[in-house]
Amino acid sequence: MCSWGPMILGHAHPVVTEAVQAAVARGTSFGTPGAGEVELAEEITARVAPVEQVRLVSSGTEATMSAIRLARGYTGRSKVVKFAGCYHGHVDALLAAAGSGVATFALPDTPGVTGAQAGDTIVLPYNDLAAVREAFAAHPGEIACVITEASAGNMGVVPPLPGFNQGLADLCREYGALYISDEVMTGFRVSRAGWYGIDGVTPDLMTFGKVMGGGFPAAAFGGRADVMAQLAPAGPVYQAGTLSGNPVATAAGVAQLRLLDDAAYATVDRVAAEVSRLVGEALTKEGVAHRVQTAGNMFSVFFTEAPVTDYAGAKAAEAYRFTPFFHSMLAQGVYLPPSAFESWFVSTAHDDAAVERIAAALPAAAKAAAQAEEGR
Ligand SMILES: *Cc1c(COP(=O)(O)O)cnc(C)c1O
Repeated sequence: MCSWGPMILGHAHPVVTEAVQAAVARGTSFGTPGAGEVELAEEITARVAPVEQVRLVSSGTEATMSAIRLARGYTGRSKVVKFAGCYHGHVDALLAAAGSGVATFALPDTPGVTGAQAGDTIVLPYNDLAAVREAFAAHPGEIACVITEASAGNMGVVPPLPGFNQGLADLCREYGALYISDEVMTGFRVSRAGWYGIDGVTPDLMTFGKVMGGGFPAAAFGGRADVMAQLAPAGPVYQAGTLSGNPVATAAGVAQLRLLDDAAYATVDRVAAEVSRLVGEALTKEGVAHRVQTAGNMFSVFFTEAPVTDYAGAKAAEAYRFTPFFHSMLAQGVYLPPSAFESWFVSTAHDDAAVERIAAALPAAAKAAAQAEEGR
């Protein structure tokens, strides 16, 4: 579970804990930029080449909210394209996931989001470039940006098909929109440079959170310097935060990122490969139809045989099998993400003993999944 991803070194890593304690002793908030903020910004720009400038915020939600505001301000356009099944935090305009038809205007998915707040959001099926092309054609000069998870992990793990992210970047360039890659989940987790380090597609703006905060509230958005120059105080697009770049959060983030070298990623990759193999093996043994889908060291299980490439496919799987599977694992001391539509996360702290304990719990959980009945 790893706190939905941030705890890539495990909980209470001594080096991170010491950095946090030292930061607290110096003062917990100054309301002005500090050394830790600059150090964290430098860690990010050194790792992720498309980030020429970066601004820190306190949550992934703030990062995506600010990025789409900046995209709208920069382009002078209103509409935002997002993909069904992608989560970008609880930003009003981005909670819309209904209406998967091509260029359908989304209705709000939750009470409290008005039609006006969601009315400029166009929700399209993930991995469907033709739908994106049609949306641009149907709304000439109106689409400010396309925002996508760099590799979808909030409908279970559904990686972009080959060419999808590059296609988005190309279409955005062609139509004068900005391409926003949301790396809040994948950033600094799946590689030193996140998903960008795996597929190399250059976005205009990127968003980060989770791992970069070391278990504290720190997040960021950044990208092209000419776009970032539109942000206040240099430019007219307002954005601010009293606790942004908080010294305790940045100390935790810097300490965690500095420990995340090639050896650490090799460990996380190896543990992820081993656990996902064990899960597949246990389910196969019980004759449970399933697919373990992976994106770097993120993975999740779909109870279906068909490859899952979008939200409709994810929802079509037999998610009811996950509930008894989850509770069997929990009863045996293994805490999985409590949803069939979430990625599993492992850490450098998952040593051989931990992996053996997971392996020992899987057969009973697989049996529970096999015996699951729909609607019960
Ligand atoms: C978690 C997540 C967010 C939201 O981050 P919060 O810090 O929870 O607000 C945004 N985008 C993606 C891809 C995420 O996984």
